[in-house]
Amino acid sequence: MSAGRYAPSPSGDLHIGNLRTALLAWLWARRSGRDFLIRVEDLDRVRPGAEQRQLDDLRALGLDWDGAPVRQSQRLDLYEAAIGRLEGEGRVYECFCTRREILEAPTAPHHPPGAYPGTCRDLTEAERAVRRAERPAALRLRSEVATFTVADKLHGTYEGAVDDFVLRRGDGVPAYNLAVVVDDGAQGVDQVVRGDDLLASAPRQAYLATLLGTAPPTYVHVPLALNPAGQRLAKRDGAVTYAELRDAGVDVFALIADSVGATGSSPRELLESFDPAALSTQPWVFDPPVSSGR
Ligand code: GLU
Repeated sequence: MSAGRYAPSPSGDLHIGNLRTALLAWLWARRSGRDFLIRVEDLDRVRPGAEQRQLDDLRALGLDWDGAPVRQSQRLDLYEAAIGRLEGEGRVYECFCTRREILEAPTAPHHPPGAYPGTCRDLTEAERAVRRAERPAALRLRSEVATFTVADKLHGTYEGAVDDFVLRRGDGVPAYNLAVVVDDGAQGVDQVVRGDDLLASAPRQAYLATLLGTAPPTYVHVPLALNPAGQRLAKRDGAVTYAELRDAGVDVFALIADSVGATGSSPRELLESFDPAALSTQPWVFDPPVSSGR
């Protein structure tokens, strides 16, 4: 199977930039004859009711998907199995560092800023036993590369850092980077269209995919929506959700279709004129029509 997907986190309502990314993911998948899947990434920051509203908004936009949406919270066994496999290969180690300790640790010259400096990588068993009594361990990947290169349809060849990133957090929750790779592999996702804020994560994920025996997907990191001040679009900017914009008299579908340079009154109709090569890699600036309590 060959599929694309949209994978929202139900931490709040989707704004028009998210909806635009979802439509682009749908267009990319459908124009290449792929299935289109919805995956609810609910391991973290879940707001009650948000998942239903997100799915309703995607439907209101005219998007359809294959099969029922899956929820990451119902797939914990898969993530644990992947961690077990990596553990069996000696690719996992316990990390006891707090966020603060990581920030304050001296960084090795070849480590990019923000990369895990490797503090717990070579602890002895005795040292680990002492630290285990202090706090629960996170699990990190013992990465064997410093960088990894991915292919992106908009950004071309992109090389980025791969550090010993977290696979399972100290609170026991599988990390986003692990879950996304396990799910894409298990669901046959070979095309990942998402916001370009995640471009820098793609090398880590692609590397992990190879360790888990799946080919990295084709990536398409699409530009985010910004407000007129050049900041990432957010709720405080005014009417940004489907419901808010509709109530303000905006034809949300027409607006998004126009922003991706396609014409038509349904996603299917857009397929005729949608030209991925013409899509800008520049952010999409959106000026919300009404302000809500600014
Ligand atoms: N759940 C992530 C988000 O909403 C997207 C992850 C992905 O597409 O890989 O930002």
